[in-house]
Amino acid sequence: MINIPKKWIVIIIGPPGAGKGTQAEMLADDFALFNFETSKVIEEKIKTGDANDPTIKQEKDNFESGKLVTPEVVVGWISEKIRGLASGGVGIVFSGSPRTVYEGEKEMPIFDELYGRENVKVFNLDIGESESVERNSHRHICKANRHPIPNLPEFKDMKICPKDGSELELRSIDNPETIKIRYQTYLEETKPVVDLLDNMGYKVIRVGGNQTIKSVHDEIMGHLTGELGDINEHKVALTCTHP
Ligand code: ADP
Repeated sequence: MINIPKKWIVIIIGPPGAGKGTQAEMLADDFALFNFETSKVIEEKIKTGDANDPTIKQEKDNFESGKLVTPEVVVGWISEKIRGLASGGVGIVFSGSPRTVYEGEKEMPIFDELYGRENVKVFNLDIGESESVERNSHRHICKANRHPIPNLPEFKDMKICPKDGSELELRSIDNPETIKIRYQTYLEETKPVVDLLDNMGYKVIRVGGNQTIKSVHDEIMGHLTGELGDINEHKVALTCTHP
């Protein structure tokens, strides 16, 4: 496995089950990127924030009653976390944000400011609805850190996460009916982010998600490393060690 620290912002946008989380985890390992999980940032804020702060209190109520956390507040928390990571010189991979045009409009200028436009790499990983339903119905993730377990025969009988030892689970929202709704939500709310980024002048790289995990990874790596003159001599060694 290579581990080259890079100060990149890598954004992977796609429908549920496209393989965003799987690819993000691999890129985080390869390039020592922080794997940014919006839901974790929200949970952390709610758990550790000052319980007397009215914003925290309100959002804690929203979160615990299953409502969405207010978009402006989420964007504020995300920005705060990004600024902290940027000041520590850490690159980031996102597989769950920006999820809406609102988030895209607020977050992209921050990425440009902190990392430079040339270091913002955007991928649109696409699959159709039936593949989304099929994959998500079999999707196992670990309880502690949501590490995705590749849906491959050799992992079929795996019971604990190889990364942190926690139990594996099938999520309740990964049933066919809910996945179809999530797919529609993607088309309505997240796909427009791709158009937004095109219009903002970002080079959005389209990658077909209907390939093996390794082929998708190789294709993304090809785009990322193709731009790295300084590590081109390592290219031969960049063969994927993941399944
Ligand atoms: P997302 O984060 O886009 O919702 P995940 O990375 O969680 O998607 O992948 C969903 C499921 O599909 C997982 O079980 C994963 O192992 C499987 N998967 C991911 N990429 C591929 C692929 N290229 N081919 C087949 N299955 C895949």
